[in-house]
Amino acid sequence: MSNSILVIGGGFSGLTAAVEAAEMGYQVYLVEKENYMGGRVAQLNKYFPKLCPPTCGLEINFKRVKTNPNITFYSNATVDAVAGSEGNYDVQITVKPKFTTPQCTAACKGKDVATTEVPNEFNFGLDTRKPVYMPHPMSFPYQCVIDPSVVNTDEGKKIQEALPAGHVDFTQTEEKINLNVGAVIVATGWKPYDATKMDRLQYGKFPNIVTNMMIERMASPSGPSEGKIYRPSDKNPPKTVGFVQCAGSRDKDHLPYCSYICCLATLKQITYLREQSPDTEIVVFYIDIRSPGMKYENFYKKVKADPKVTFIKGKVADVKEGSNGNVVLIAEDTIGGGKVEKEVELAVLATGMQPEGALSPITGIEYDTDGFVVPKAGIIPCGCSKRPVDVVSSAQSSTAAALKAAQVINRRAN
Ligand code: SF4
Repeated sequence: MSNSILVIGGGFSGLTAAVEAAEMGYQVYLVEKENYMGGRVAQLNKYFPKLCPPTCGLEINFKRVKTNPNITFYSNATVDAVAGSEGNYDVQITVKPKFTTPQCTAACKGKDVATTEVPNEFNFGLDTRKPVYMPHPMSFPYQCVIDPSVVNTDEGKKIQEALPAGHVDFTQTEEKINLNVGAVIVATGWKPYDATKMDRLQYGKFPNIVTNMMIERMASPSGPSEGKIYRPSDKNPPKTVGFVQCAGSRDKDHLPYCSYICCLATLKQITYLREQSPDTEIVVFYIDIRSPGMKYENFYKKVKADPKVTFIKGKVADVKEGSNGNVVLIAEDTIGGGKVEKEVELAVLATGMQPEGALSPITGIEYDTDGFVVPKAGIIPCGCSKRPVDVVSSAQSSTAAALKAAQVINRRAN
């Protein structure tokens, strides 16, 4: 029987679960597949309930992870398989190389000599990055990464020569690690639903249709436009914006469930737009507005009282290209009656959340038909691997998961 706990996923949920379990005295292994911890929250401009920037919640967790000797963490690492039963799980982990050493914290000289660029995945392709890069300014671990595509190429050699000796290591290879743990906490989080799958919404066909997560990156001071929301075709601030709610969610052909966070994300993003330009006109097409709890309901009421914001109860059924790169949103107004067409300079799809389990399932973990983790005695899902939730609820379910993992270990030990 093992007294240690594996936490899969280093986003807000995984960090919380790892810290809570470690502070109870358990040995914790934390595995994150990206090059950095922090997950989706790291990509937000602000998050509920306090509408503070991600630094205010993540930095303290990073510090607790860094300073707790009970936590061993791996980034750029995947859990390949979990096998066993409660109290006794064998786990296989693959740690991929970053081709740098921990001293490499300033890729700038390498970037100056790099000649190729790829879409910047952290900013959802709104800009590009070089093959040597710091994933984002708040990265933890704070270590640059080099793309495997330039290893042992002329470009790779130039990058190596430009950086100080000992910062680049092209001899690194994948490392396989086998662990035995008593319980597994699954905090693998979510991905924004792929908007190209919804043909009727024309994402990817017209430049001025973006997703809600792209708006978060635009609005972030560390984003591609240093905090300015713009329309991609001409980089100008939009004077009219249309939000399309339930983009992919509550749709039997896509995500059959409500994604919980996208109504609140839209309300929050309306405040970003109105702060940037008091004259911006905003229209929201919705089926229902879901703002659970007194605090969120009051936030909704405040946004609704804004005379520049119009809510139309109707699902967007069709999208056409308007003049000057504008987007025409077409819906049936179920309260006012009749067909409504609104031409806007920028359309924002409030895309839903799809659990990672639907896209990258782990052998040995059981999932339901939507990709959410099915709990077992020693395999404990939390946050959005279990169901769509906001950050506060994620933190609560992660604390509960740490407690359940401790109970599993104690039960088997006695
Ligand atoms: Fe639709 Fe709102 Fe639910 Fe998101 S939170 S799926 S936009 S009802």
